[in-house]
Amino acid sequence: MSFSRVAGRSVPTRTLGWVAAPTDVISSRLAGFGTTIFAEMSALAVGTGAINLGQGFPDTDGPREVLDAAIESIDGGLNQYPPLPGMPILREAIAAHQQRFYDIELDPATEIVVTAGATEALAGALLGMLDAGDEVIVFEPMYDSYRAGIAMADARAVPVLLAPDANGNYVFDPAELRAAVSSRTKLVLLNTPHNPTGKVFTRDELQLIADVVLEHDLIAVTDEVYEHLAFDGRTHVPLSTLPGMAERTLTISSGGKTFHTTGWKIGWMSGPAPLVAAARTAKQFLTFVNGAPFQPAMAVGLGLPDSYFAGMRAGLQATRDRLVAALDSVGFITYTPEASYFVTADIRPLDSSGNGVDFCRQLPHRCGVVAVPNEVFYARPEHGRHMVRFAFCKQMQVIEAAADALTKGFSP
Ligand code: PMP
Ligand code: GLN
Repeated sequence: MSFSRVAGRSVPTRTLGWVAAPTDVISSRLAGFGTTIFAEMSALAVGTGAINLGQGFPDTDGPREVLDAAIESIDGGLNQYPPLPGMPILREAIAAHQQRFYDIELDPATEIVVTAGATEALAGALLGMLDAGDEVIVFEPMYDSYRAGIAMADARAVPVLLAPDANGNYVFDPAELRAAVSSRTKLVLLNTPHNPTGKVFTRDELQLIADVVLEHDLIAVTDEVYEHLAFDGRTHVPLSTLPGMAERTLTISSGGKTFHTTGWKIGWMSGPAPLVAAARTAKQFLTFVNGAPFQPAMAVGLGLPDSYFAGMRAGLQATRDRLVAALDSVGFITYTPEASYFVTADIRPLDSSGNGVDFCRQLPHRCGVVAVPNEVFYARPEHGRHMVRFAFCKQMQVIEAAADALTKGFSP
């Protein structure tokens, strides 16, 4: 018996003697991605007992009838693999939802597939449609799985910057969007309403994007997981509803945010059959299927009356307002979100180093609150170095407690 060393330990091997155990095994495509910021910051919140305004998940359960439907499904024996495209009852509910809210017509048989959250739909779309070296136009900051999904497909993310204008609204430069197109561009990946900025792309902005997509014969993939969380009377416009776009847009969403069921991971994609089929081809080898008992429950959620959606939005708008006011009074520069779970804030008035990563690592120790640094949402991190993101998808008393803690932590 001999030994090799694994992370400082001696490990017995039969024949090789003192052989260093492999450590540098990550693929070149994923080298540098490390552990997601959400895992790191939620662990920090647990470890320090801080209020977790980092990872975006609600702290209350969703509608009772949705929860009951899942329990009934389990009790009723819906515990085996559902069909690859998802249970018919959910696909029909998704079609009815798209018709009801956006006047979009879909064939549940060929134009809708249920996925393991929006995350899997995104990965399926990227892996199913991209070849090595293809380019994807993305707006940065962007949800962290985009760059990883593009990297896993051995493709390249080409960022277009969203930056606050003089009025504090995140905007992009149409010239930068146009300049981002090359002969290798295949997709434009758009998230509206947007994480982390809370931006709702306007119809005019969507038209600019649609013009580029149509002019260069591209495909659009849209991530609309915050579709029901637009505030102050704003409405979400799916890119696929713009003229000429239905034929070339794969629309992705999920029920996690809308029904406070982020842990269920029930998402979906919809659009023209060839796009759905390409993404489904990859999806079937990622998870094949998921969440059988949650699928009929999600169908119940999608069919809830308008009052449910309005009530949920109003609750979030109230916690948004409370948190933004608290951050302003503490001294952050905030950018009031038009939608989503999140508010972005510039730390520089409070921390002249402008280092959001260090700031977030210290915040729980300083005042018992966790946020996430926006740097991780950028392909060019320097653009987001001084920004951090706070989630307000929490009960009002939690937001109040966080407001108090921040005020105390930053009082001179
Ligand atoms: N897209 C965006 C913009 C998100 O914020 C999130 C976070 N939940 C996801 C996708 C992932 O959604 P899901 O949990 O349904 O996979
Ligand atoms: N979408 C949530 C966020 O942005 C959670 C993401 C995650 O945990 N991967 O915080």
